[in-house]
Amino acid sequence: MTPPPIEITSALLSEWLDALSRFSAEGPGVTRLAFDEHWCQAHRWLAARAADLGLAATADAAGNLFFHDPALVPAAPGSPVILVGSHLDSVASGGRFDGAYGVLSGLLVAAELRGRGTLPVVGLATCEEEESRFHGNLLGARSLLGLASAAELDALLDSDGVSWRRALESARLRGCATALAPGASPFTATFRAAMMIEPHIEQGPVLETERLGLGVVDRVAGYRRLRAILSGEARHSGTTPMPARRDALAAAAEMILAAETLAMENGPPALATAGSVRARPGLFNVVPGACELWLEVRHVELDGLARLLSELERRCKAIAARRGVGFAIEQVSSQAPAPLSPDLAAAAERLAEEQGIAHRRMASGAAHDAMVFARAGVPSLLVFVPSRRGISHSPEEFTDAGALWTGYHFVRDLAARLAAGGGTGVLRPVGP
Ligand SMILES: [Zn+2]
Repeated sequence: MTPPPIEITSALLSEWLDALSRFSAEGPGVTRLAFDEHWCQAHRWLAARAADLGLAATADAAGNLFFHDPALVPAAPGSPVILVGSHLDSVASGGRFDGAYGVLSGLLVAAELRGRGTLPVVGLATCEEEESRFHGNLLGARSLLGLASAAELDALLDSDGVSWRRALESARLRGCATALAPGASPFTATFRAAMMIEPHIEQGPVLETERLGLGVVDRVAGYRRLRAILSGEARHSGTTPMPARRDALAAAAEMILAAETLAMENGPPALATAGSVRARPGLFNVVPGACELWLEVRHVELDGLARLLSELERRCKAIAARRGVGFAIEQVSSQAPAPLSPDLAAAAERLAEEQGIAHRRMASGAAHDAMVFARAGVPSLLVFVPSRRGISHSPEEFTDAGALWTGYHFVRDLAARLAAGGGTGVLRPVGP
């Protein structure tokens, strides 16, 4: 085992989180969109910090970045590793911790555990998770696992019409990605993930409210997103008596409240949100004749999600029928709930108990890179640290240095234990 040339402390973690947050576009909070100049500067800064720690930094064709023992040969077939990390991109005007905390934890864990254990531990910064620039649905993790296609390189466009392929090419010219492989599978594996651990801030209020230091996340919620079209009758607002109206917006208002009531009746982990409503013609003096309503339901169980969806549809249809309003609904997108590794969660709980860290099992309401790994069959775990007031995707995002360090320390010890055991109890069969 080679100790890192720099002492890894809570102060170093905080200092590097500050430094990473400065790679951002102008404006409040952190704005680091995938493959933009700030992202590239952050990418190069991380590679330099890896070198300071005695590690190699290897990028792949999607701009994912791996921090590893220089003795480990990337793309060597049949050599599984434990990946620890998260995403480098941020939402516009996001916070300092979302993604960055997991990236730096992975970098530092890889340095501390270099040369130890049967399974090597490799730090990971995925290129994109937030849909910060392309609506690509977790491009970083998907490309790393060979689940992103060549067709997406040209089909995905940012708000300026720049394709993912062109953005990657410009990142490659700045040293932040390697060349794409020819053919239908442009992304080749740099390391084979035997397990994936993602340290992340909670982004919700549960840990803070319950005064806990850690969340062992064993499930990621799924969702269904629906677009409802309501058709009533546009008529003069001054001459149409109230009982004669077929007001599409008033019907939508009832549906919004029905969605809220349904989730409240079900209780956690059921969630329902009406994210947008647009009435036409949108005038003071016309009863709204048409309305488009966006609805989303979330749940951690597939059955629960299906029940929420069918009950919401039933209640909306009843409202529409009572009001004489036409109602058509289509599913716009969906994500199935993703169970993470029960064995990794059990190993994490055991360690938290041994270390006397107050913790709980929980589900994540938001998608994360770990979910993509789990779906691909890689045993995966999310570890949450508390977020002040649960605020995230905001410049107000905050976790104190003590809580960050507790989480880091815990993930390091968990990775060390798993590495030493060669994945015993989690990997079946063990090894390559
Ligand atoms: Zn995140």
